[in-house]
Amino acid sequence: MSYSKILLIADEARRSIGEFCNTECHAYCCRKGYLILNAVQVDLVTQNKCLELTKSGSLKVLENGNYSLFLGDESCPSLSEGKCLIHQNQKRPDACKQFPLFLVDYRIKLSQRCMAVRIGKFYPFISTLIKLGCTLEKNDFNDFGYESFFKLEKHEKRALT
Ligand code: SF4
Ligand code: SF4
Repeated sequence: MSYSKILLIADEARRSIGEFCNTECHAYCCRKGYLILNAVQVDLVTQNKCLELTKSGSLKVLENGNYSLFLGDESCPSLSEGKCLIHQNQKRPDACKQFPLFLVDYRIKLSQRCMAVRIGKFYPFISTLIKLGCTLEKNDFNDFGYESFFKLEKHEKRALT
């Protein structure tokens, strides 16, 4: 199975929660936490409000030259009426592109901060990805029912040997 198939399924999984993000969750992930940005992304994501956000303390320069943007006070500057203004822009941060399903090689990491993850919206996709050879990073999933996927991983490994 080609890796591009795995990438397509991961994308499909992220797209599948779009309606839920808009109507149920109301972009929680764009209103809480921090976003790490590089020099190109910082102008894009802040909608050119770097100066203003630095003055208010929401935007800080890190030692490595990147920026840390605090989303918690007034939400991300690129969030407007529940929608991301830069969603189609390929230069948007990788965290925004991948959230809440991160794929590194064949390892899947699901963010526990995501409401859709918490209510199991990704179950069918994770099941398919594991059958294609991916593994789900162990995390504190006990409350969300994902522990059964670790049994599935073992089963799939046995089936392959
Ligand atoms: S936290 Fe999850 S469900 Fe909520 S908007 Fe973000 S990706 Fe969508
Ligand atoms: S850039 Fe878009 S997806 Fe990323 S936090 Fe801001 S509004 Fe959300």
